[in-house]
Amino acid sequence: MRHAGGRAAGADTVDSAGVVPAGPELLEAGREEIERAVAHAEPMVLRGLLYQLTGDPEVAATSIAIDPTGFQTAMMVARDDDVALLRRKAIEFLETYRATGAGPLGIGPEDRLPASLSLTLGEEIDDQEFTFCLEELALDPWVRDLEWRRVPPQDRLREFSVTIIGAGLGGLNVALMLKRAGIAYTVIEKNAGVGGTWNETRYPGARVDTPSRGYTHIFGAHFPYSSPFCDWAENQRYFDWVADTFELRDDIVFNTEVRALTWDERSSTWEVEIDGPEGRGRLRSNAVVTATGFLNRPMTPEIDGMETFRGASWHTARWPDGTDVAGKRIAVVGTGCTGYQLIPELARQAEQVVAFQRRPQWLFGVPGYLSPFPPEVAWLDRNFPYYTNFMRLRTLGTGKAFWRLTEIDPDFCDPHTVSPLNKTTREASLAFLERKLGDRPDLLATMTPGHPPWSARAVMVDADDCVLDAIRRDNVTLVTERIGRITETGIETVGGARHDVDVIVYATGFQASDYLFPMKVTGRDGRTLEEFWKIGGARAHRFCMIPGFPNLWSVYGPNTNGGLGPGAFHELVTRYALECMEHLILEDGRAIEPTEEAYWRFNEEVDERNARKVWSDPRALSYYWTEHGRSAVMCPFTGPEIWSLLRHPPLDELEIR
Ligand SMILES: Cc1cc2nc3c(=O)[nH]c(=O)nc-3n(C[C@H](O)[C@H](O)[C@H](O)COP(=O)(O)OP(=O)(O)OC[C@H]3O[C@@H](n4cnc5c(N)ncnc54)[C@H](O)[C@@H]3O)c2cc1C
Repeated sequence: MRHAGGRAAGADTVDSAGVVPAGPELLEAGREEIERAVAHAEPMVLRGLLYQLTGDPEVAATSIAIDPTGFQTAMMVARDDDVALLRRKAIEFLETYRATGAGPLGIGPEDRLPASLSLTLGEEIDDQEFTFCLEELALDPWVRDLEWRRVPPQDRLREFSVTIIGAGLGGLNVALMLKRAGIAYTVIEKNAGVGGTWNETRYPGARVDTPSRGYTHIFGAHFPYSSPFCDWAENQRYFDWVADTFELRDDIVFNTEVRALTWDERSSTWEVEIDGPEGRGRLRSNAVVTATGFLNRPMTPEIDGMETFRGASWHTARWPDGTDVAGKRIAVVGTGCTGYQLIPELARQAEQVVAFQRRPQWLFGVPGYLSPFPPEVAWLDRNFPYYTNFMRLRTLGTGKAFWRLTEIDPDFCDPHTVSPLNKTTREASLAFLERKLGDRPDLLATMTPGHPPWSARAVMVDADDCVLDAIRRDNVTLVTERIGRITETGIETVGGARHDVDVIVYATGFQASDYLFPMKVTGRDGRTLEEFWKIGGARAHRFCMIPGFPNLWSVYGPNTNGGLGPGAFHELVTRYALECMEHLILEDGRAIEPTEEAYWRFNEEVDERNARKVWSDPRALSYYWTEHGRSAVMCPFTGPEIWSLLRHPPLDELEIR
C-alpha cells in the first residue's frame, strides 16, 4: 500500500507513470530554435535518451571514450561525426514529435531501458544496477517511498513517533518520507531556516562542485536550477521550495538545538533534550533519525595569540551577512575547497589577500563552472521529453567511475599515483596547472600537490577564472610557511614574517569525523556513544545503525562520503530506516538495533576496503583519514553496492525486542 497523504503541487512535473505532460512551447518553436537548443544538448544524454525513445541502432552504435579532463573520469562521445549524428537525430525526433502535437509521451519499451541507461552511462549495467539506476532516473518521483507491506494497525501507528534532528538535504527528505508514510514526526533544527549547509555557508564564492542537476531529491528532479553548479543562494532556493511545496515547515521546530539523547529502556523511547527560545525542554519519541550533516560543526584552529587580534575574524561557515571587504586586507587561513573558492572572490574586491596554505590540493578546471545555464538548456529541460531525467542520471552516474579512479592497483608502480586511471587524472590536473602557471615556476611548484589525486578532496574550479589566476595578482600573496602566531595586527609565520591584516577568515573546514558532535547520546545500560566510539572512532552498521542504541538512525552517518551523492545516500538510508520502523509497527516490536557481531563484521569490511582506496595514502593528511589509521567518513563501496546494502534491512543482522 502506498500512503497517499502529502502529495503536493509542484511534485508532478513528471507523474508517477513517467509520462511527460505536453507543453505548448515546442509546438511554437521553429527549426532554428530547435537546432539552437539541441546544440547545447549533452551527447551522452542524447545517446541513451534517443535510443530509448526511438530504438535507432545508429544511435546505439556511436563510439565513446574516457573524458580526458579528469575530475571524475566520465565517459564521452568520442568522435565529432557521432556527436553531429546524435544532434541531427535529436532535431529530427523533436520535429516529428512537434508534428504529432507534442502530446504526452510514454518512456517507451521497458525492456529497452537497461540498454538505454547503459548508453548514457557509457558502461554496461547488470540487473541489480539497473534497478538502482532506474530509481536515480526519477521517472517515478516517489519510488523511494515506504511501501507498507500491509495496512498498519491504526492504534500502533498513532502511538509511534519520530524525532528528526536537522532540516537540511537529509532531514527534509526524512520528514517528507515519514509524512507520506503516515508516521508522526517532529523536526528539531538549530538554525532559523531549512537548508543546513547552505543556510550556514554564505561566503563569497560558496557553491557546489558536484552538478546541480544531481543535487536534488528524486522528487525534486525537475527543480529549475539556474546553473550547472549553483551557488549557496540557489541551493537555498531549492531547500525553501521543498519545505514550502511539501508543507513541511509547520513540522519543524526552528532555533532549537538537541543537546542530548537518552534511551529509556522501560518505555523503549528516546528522551530528547532540547534547548530553544523557551529554554531547555524534553521530548519523547519511539525513534530518532539524525540528519545533522558531517560538514556542520566548524573547525577553528587553536593558534597562539588568536585572542589578541584587534581586527575581525570568523569561520567561513559564519560569514557575516552584508560584509563589505572592499579596501580591506584579509588573511585566509586554509586552502581546501572553501579557501580556493573564496580567494578569487576576495581578490576582486579586497585591497589585499594573504592566503596561508599548508598543502595544495589537486585542481580540475571545468569550463563554465561559474556560469549560468544558457536559456537553451532550460528549453531542453522543458521541451525534450525525459531530457532532465537522463541528464540527472548522466551527472550522477553509478559512482563506479569514481570508485575505479580511487582504487589502488597493487600491481601498478608509480611514485605519484595508485593506478593507471589515477595517473591519467593527475596528468590532466598537471596540464591545467601548467597552462595557468607555466611561466611562473615558483607558483607552479607551490601549487603541485605531493599526494595522489583524490587521496584528499580534489577541487573543481572554473577553467578561466580561479584561484590559479588569483594568486598571480599583485594584491594576492600566497604564504606557505607555517603560521607561528597571531598578533594584535595580523599573522606571523614561524620564520618571523609578519602579515598585517584587518580581517582573518578561517577556511579551516569542519569536525568531519566527529559524528553527532556535540550531542551526548546515551544508549542501553547508560553507555554513551563517545565511549562506544573511543576505539577507532565513529562507525555504524550499514552506515546508519549502532548496537546498543536502538531505534536510532543516521542519514549522513559514518562512512557515507563518496560512492554516492549525499541526496541518494540520504534517500536510501531513509527508506531503510522506515522499513525498520515498519517492522516495529507491523510486528509489534519495541526496539530494533544491529547485533554487535554484524556491526563489527560490516566495519571490518569497510576498513579492509578503505585500506585499498587512495585515501589511505599517508601523504594526504586530510579529514578523509583519522588518527586511528582508518577513515570514519569515506565509503569504499560503489553506488549499486550501497543500494544493495540498504535496499532492505537484513533481519538476521538485527535484534528486535
Ligand atoms: C562549502 C561546502 C560545499 C559543499 N559542496 C558540496 C557539493 O558540491 N556536493 C555535495 O554533494 N555536497 C557538498 N557539500 C556537503 C553538504 O554538506 C551536503 O551536500 C549536504 O548539505 C548535507 O546535507 P545534510 O542534511 O546531511 O547536512 P547539513 O546540510 O549539514 O544539515 C544538517 C542540519 O542539522 C542541523 N543540526 C546539526 N546538529 C543539530 C542539533 N544538535 N540540533 C538541531 N539541529 C542540528 C544543522 O543546523 C543543519 O541544518 C558541501 C559542504 C560545504 C560545507
